[in-house]
Amino acid sequence: MDFFRGVTGLYFALGVLASALVLEAMMPWRRGVKISPARWVRNASMSFYSFILLGLLPLLSAYGAAMIAEARGLGVFNQMTAPLWVTALAAIIAFDLTAYGVHRSLHKWYFLWRTHRTHHGDAHIDATTSLRFHPFEALVRAIIDLPVVFLLGLPEEAIVVNFVVLTVVNTFTHTNIALAPSVERVLSRILVTPHIHRLHHSAAPEHLDTNLGTIFSLWDRLFATFTPSDRLRENEVFGIEGPEAITPDSFANLALDPFRKPDHAAIPKPEPRDARP
Ligand SMILES: [Zn+2]
Repeated sequence: MDFFRGVTGLYFALGVLASALVLEAMMPWRRGVKISPARWVRNASMSFYSFILLGLLPLLSAYGAAMIAEARGLGVFNQMTAPLWVTALAAIIAFDLTAYGVHRSLHKWYFLWRTHRTHHGDAHIDATTSLRFHPFEALVRAIIDLPVVFLLGLPEEAIVVNFVVLTVVNTFTHTNIALAPSVERVLSRILVTPHIHRLHHSAAPEHLDTNLGTIFSLWDRLFATFTPSDRLRENEVFGIEGPEAITPDSFANLALDPFRKPDHAAIPKPEPRDARP
C-alpha cells in the first residue's frame, strides 16, 4: 500500500477540505461570516509545518512504526491473522481513546497547553480550523501513538484506514455547518458532531475542558466531560480571551506561540461554583 508514499494522502486531505468548504457554503451554521483568505492561509501553514516536520521524522509516524512492528513480529495482531476490518476498527478505537487522553492532558498541563493554544486561538471555527495545529502538538500526538502501534501490532493498512477516517472526522467536526436537529440528536449519542466540538472551542472557560473527544462522544460521557450540543448559543464567542489570546493572530505569533508565557499565565478555568454571582 503506497498511500503515504507519493502524494495520495495529501490529495485525499485536500479533497475532504474542498468538500467541507462546499458544505459550509450550502448549509452554514453561522451565516454572513466574511471569508478571510489570510486566515485560511495562516491555518493551512500550521498543517504544512507539521507535514514537513513529521515527513522528516518518518520513524516517528504510526505508519513507520507499523512497518517495524511487522518486520519484528511485535504486538497482538502480528501474532495472528486478522481481517482488515478488525485491525482497522481496533486502530480507530485505540487511537481515539489515546487522543482523548492526550487532549485532556493538553488542557491540564500548561507546558502542553502552550502547544495546543494555537488551535484554540482561532476566533472563527470552520473547516480550515482543522488545519491549525502547531507542529509541536502534532509531534506530541505522534509520539504518544507509537506505543499503541507496537502493543497492538497494527498493520500499515489499518493505519491508512485510521488516517482516512480521522481526516474526514477532524474536518467535519470543525466545519461551519448545522445538522438537522433530529440527525444531531441521533449522531451525537455516538459521534462527535460539529455542534459538540464547537462547544469545545467556546471562549467560555466552563466549556473549554469539555467535549474533548475526536471521533466518539463515548469517552466524554464515560469520563464526565460531556456538554450536550443544545447548550451552544447562536452568539457563542470562540477562541481565547485574556492574556492567553494570540494577538495579533499572525503567522509569526502562531509559529512561536509555544515559547510564549504571558504574565498571569494560566489555562482558562471556570470560576469555582461558590464564587459565581
Ligand atoms: Zn482542545
